[in-house]
Amino acid sequence: MTSVSTSKLNKSSFFREESNEHCRIDLHSHTSYSDGGLTPQELIERAVNFQLDVLAITDHDTVSGLASAHCYINDKNLPLKLVNGIEISTAWQGFEIHIVGLNIDPNNQVLTELITKQQTLRELRAITMGEKLLKCGFSDVYDKAKTIAAVGDKKGSITRAHFAKVLLQQGHVATMQKAFDKYIGKGQRAYVKPNWCSIEEAVNAIHTAGGSAVMAHPIRYDLSAKWLRRLIVQFKEDGGDALEIVLPQMAPQQRQLMLNYCLEYDLHASMGSDFHHPSKWSDLGRNLRMPEKAKPVWALWQ
Ligand code: AMP
Ligand code: MN
Ligand code: MN
Ligand code: MN
Repeated sequence: MTSVSTSKLNKSSFFREESNEHCRIDLHSHTSYSDGGLTPQELIERAVNFQLDVLAITDHDTVSGLASAHCYINDKNLPLKLVNGIEISTAWQGFEIHIVGLNIDPNNQVLTELITKQQTLRELRAITMGEKLLKCGFSDVYDKAKTIAAVGDKKGSITRAHFAKVLLQQGHVATMQKAFDKYIGKGQRAYVKPNWCSIEEAVNAIHTAGGSAVMAHPIRYDLSAKWLRRLIVQFKEDGGDALEIVLPQMAPQQRQLMLNYCLEYDLHASMGSDFHHPSKWSDLGRNLRMPEKAKPVWALWQ
């Protein structure tokens, strides 16, 4: 397991030698080891069918899905390069900020210790969330969420998406989004304020593991321009490397704004679909193109 899963990519992996075409790249995706709908094998299969050249698996606070993804690619000799990744939940000024680590050594001890801490926090939060949902009149949600988060013998992360799915299955809400809007989203009745690690801790762990730290989806934090700037300044001070500035479904104005932040704060740029499961709105690698003026995050990889 160790020999395959620690393999790292360098910047030449991002060029297609045989043609002038751009590589198809997606640096943000989830598997069933966190809240993704596909197993690592199914995700890899989909990426190959979509003719992706490079894919990063970035599950929430876990690297457990990477080994089987590497094995699958090697066993079937598939034409896909896999970037070892993770998406770490952090707490900043009352907001939950996601920091993606790319091209990490998943076996690094500092990173492993941080993951263990985050897993404990996830478990404690899940228990408290279950208790709060019980007070809302919904029994058995914690147990059911645990069951769907732990398909087979896998060691993955329990997330709010699992709770939302149970609330939907039990008929308490009409959609998963409603579960967030009414119960488990920030400020709602069953919301539990998490004690995630700081941005600095996440960045340090990623760097110690040899990777690059990317602020995930800056446009999705519901921050005013002033607060988003503060966040970017903090991220930069903490040693952050890149902003994820290309996501599906971004307005051209938003793309330009995010690019401007990269240029202004001398940050590299990343791009990814944040794929969780097949949907009408977005899919692996779709609508992702790095702006010419941006310095791609993979330029950092020797
Ligand atoms: P967690 O990391 O356990 O707090 O779970 C958050 C995950 O739930 C996110 O990564 C999303 O995939 C999913 N999610 C879906 N809708 C929402 C929402 N409205 N707010 C926050 N998370 C959402
Ligand atoms: Mn998610
Ligand atoms: Mn995220
Ligand atoms: Mn994500």
